[in-house]
Amino acid sequence: MIQEQLNALVCPDSDGLFGRYGGKIGHPELARALAEIETGFRKIVCDADFIAQMQRLRTTYVGRPSPIYHARTLSERGADIYLKREDLNHTGAHKINHCIGEVLLAKKLGKKKVIAETGAGQHGVALATASALLGLKCEIHMGVADMAKEHPNVSRMKILGAEIVPVSAGAGTLKEAVDSAFASYMAQLDDSMFAVGSVVGPAPYPEMVAYFQSIVGHEAREQFQTAYGGLPDEVVACVGGGSNALGLFNAFIDDKDVALVGVEPAGEGLDKPGRHAATLTLGKFGHIQGFNCYYLQEADGTPAAVHSIASGLDYPGVGPQHCHLKDSGRARYETATDAECLDAFMVLSREEGIIPALESSHAVAYALRRAAELGPGRRLLVNLSGRGDKDIDFVLERLAQQTD
Ligand SMILES: *Cc1c(COP(=O)(O)O)cnc(C)c1O
Repeated sequence: MIQEQLNALVCPDSDGLFGRYGGKIGHPELARALAEIETGFRKIVCDADFIAQMQRLRTTYVGRPSPIYHARTLSERGADIYLKREDLNHTGAHKINHCIGEVLLAKKLGKKKVIAETGAGQHGVALATASALLGLKCEIHMGVADMAKEHPNVSRMKILGAEIVPVSAGAGTLKEAVDSAFASYMAQLDDSMFAVGSVVGPAPYPEMVAYFQSIVGHEAREQFQTAYGGLPDEVVACVGGGSNALGLFNAFIDDKDVALVGVEPAGEGLDKPGRHAATLTLGKFGHIQGFNCYYLQEADGTPAAVHSIASGLDYPGVGPQHCHLKDSGRARYETATDAECLDAFMVLSREEGIIPALESSHAVAYALRRAAELGPGRRLLVNLSGRGDKDIDFVLERLAQQTD
C-alpha cells in the first residue's frame, strides 16, 4: 500500500513557515483551536487504525488508485501526454482526497460539524460527501456569483444534507466565501472544525491538505514507472490554491530531471488587472487570510479583484509551498488564458472523449502547447484534477456567444 509522505522541501518549520511563506495565526482563541487541529493531525498520521481506515475508504469508496491514461491522439502534437485521472474519483475531482482526511480528523477531535468555503462547489460537494459518509454536519459558504454559475454542485450539496450559506459581499466569489466561513467558525470553535479546501490558510492547513493530496503523486510516480518505464520530463497541474499541483509535485521533488510546472489562469490576459488570477506570475509578497504568500494586490496592499473562467482558480493568493518552490527554482509557473482553456476543454472532449473541468483544462492547455514545442520522444504527465460535468452548460453558452 502506498502511503502519504511530504518531501522536506515542502514541510513547514515549527512556526508553520515554508521559507518566509505560510505561518501561524496570531488571534489567541483561533490559535488555540488550530493548535488542537495540528496536534490531532500529528497524532492520526502515526496512528495505524487511522491509516488503515483511510486506505480502506480510498480503495472501496473513492476508487483509488486513479489510472494514468496515455492520450495518444493529443500526443500527435509532439511529446507524449499522459493524464492522471483524478476526474475519475468519486465526486469527480481530487478534493475528496483531503476531505475524507479532514472529516476523519474532525471526528477524532469529537467535533459535530465541519465548516468550509467553496469556489466552484467542488470542495463543498466533496466535503458534504465525506460528511454524509462519516456522519458529521456540514456548513458550506459559497459566493452568489459562483452559486449561479455552478448550480448543479449547489443542488448536490443540498441533497447530501449540507447547509449552504450564500455570500453576496464583494464579487461574490471564493475570497469572500473564505471570509464568511471563517467568521462563522469563530462563533462555534468548540463544536466545529474548519476544513480548508486547498493548501492555503494558516498552519496546519497547507501542510495537512498537502499531506492528504500527496497520494496523487506517490501513485502516479509508481504507476508511470511500472507502465511506461522511467519518469516523465515534466509533471503539470493547474494552480488555484495549489493542492492538486502539490499533491502531484511532492513525489517528484527529488527527481531533479523532472520539471514541476504549475499552470495559473491568465484569464482575459496578464495585461488586464482584475481579469486574471496569475498569482505566482504577477503577485507580490504579503499577508492574506491568515498566511504569508504571493498574492495579487492593489497599490495599497488589499487583495485585488481576480477572474478566471474556472471558478475553482479565481483566488488572489496561493499556497505557501508553491511560493517557496518558485523562489527555490524547483518549480516553474506558467499561464493559460480563458480562451486557451476553452480550446483545451473542447480538444480533450473531442479527441479523447474526456470532458475535463475548466480548472484542469488550464493544465491541458499548457500541455498541448508544450507538447508541440518539445516534440516526439519527450513525456508530459498532466494531473487531470476533475471532470467537467459541472461546466458543460456554461461552456456551450460561451461557445454560442463566440459564434454569434
Ligand atoms: C478546486 C479545484 C482546483 C483548484 O484547486 P487547487 O487547490 O489549486 O488544486 C483545480 N481543479 C479542480 C477540478 C478543482 O475542483
